[in-house]
Amino acid sequence: MNNVIIIGGGPAGLTAAIYTSRANVKTLLLEPELEGGQAALTLSLENYPGSVKGDSGMDIAMRMREQAVSFGTEIVKERVESVEVDGDEKVVKTDGGEYRAKYVIVCTGSKPNTLGVPGEEKFVSRGVSYCATCDGAFYQNGDVYVIGGGNSAVEEALYLANLGAKVHIVHRRSELRAEGFLADQAKNHENIEILWNTELKELWGEKALENLVLYNNKTDERFVIEKKNRPLGVFIYVGIKPQTEFLEGLLDLNKGQVPVDKHQMTAVDGIYAAGDIVDKDFKQVVTACSDGCIAAMDVARRITQYD
Ligand code: NAP
Repeated sequence: MNNVIIIGGGPAGLTAAIYTSRANVKTLLLEPELEGGQAALTLSLENYPGSVKGDSGMDIAMRMREQAVSFGTEIVKERVESVEVDGDEKVVKTDGGEYRAKYVIVCTGSKPNTLGVPGEEKFVSRGVSYCATCDGAFYQNGDVYVIGGGNSAVEEALYLANLGAKVHIVHRRSELRAEGFLADQAKNHENIEILWNTELKELWGEKALENLVLYNNKTDERFVIEKKNRPLGVFIYVGIKPQTEFLEGLLDLNKGQVPVDKHQMTAVDGIYAAGDIVDKDFKQVVTACSDGCIAAMDVARRITQYD
């Protein structure tokens, strides 16, 4: 039996694994995809402490992975389907088997929200994207509409504008939610225009995206943007959704987020949560790492002092 099972291999899970395995706690980390989570999609993790040379999220995540494995973490590529409590033990069921441990740290992160407008689903990868780092190169000389006004939308708009795209940020209000430093860069960028009080209503096209319908909620005007003789892309950044469906019924969630105490422990003794799934205001790679560290240290302390 493992001492601790960590679910999810993003920055929170990898940091937890570094701390538990380094403390000689037998650690199993379950992650069905490539480690790194959403952070691995960031081209340059500029605000991660010590990242001064434009390290990518993937570079940093792969180093975290190597560090965790070097201390003895075992990584198994399976997707968790449920977590149950059996007396003192937690039973973690995956698409490949069943694992038991007294302690579980859930670090399953988040995925981007969809807007739910007509045409969005139809044109995914054919004009609609949720990842500028992955798909931005297709639009370097094109017209790009970035939907949203938070940190993600503005960071990715800057990335696309720096690639050479003509970027239009479409934001439903007249003020960006993004931090001032980022907002100022977007406002002053020659390749970026901000369409205030504007919403994306519909996407049209035969096989690929050809037109989009925008709506100004101040003037009540609708207008159609037509594809010119260059690429037309829509990048959607309207918030993130915690990946916690498998915890419903086990924990009381707040809009999918997990409430925790000062040691990152949930309402169920021995089950911890860390990173973007936690019910908290600030979701950064460094705060995810911090959560993972705190949970891991509490687990290690309990194992050495009480178990
Ligand atoms: P976010 O901060 O929740 O922002 C979502 C944006 O989408 C908001 O501007 C919101 O508009 C807009 N929006 C939401 N639903 C919409 C809808 N149905 N139609 C149109 N617009 C809609 O999400 P995020 O930017 O993905 O960031 C998530 C978390 O990660 C945040 O905590 C953020 O600080 C963090 N993050 C940090 C960094 C960094 O520090 N470098 C980078 C990326 C993300 P309103 O403003 O009107 O609500």
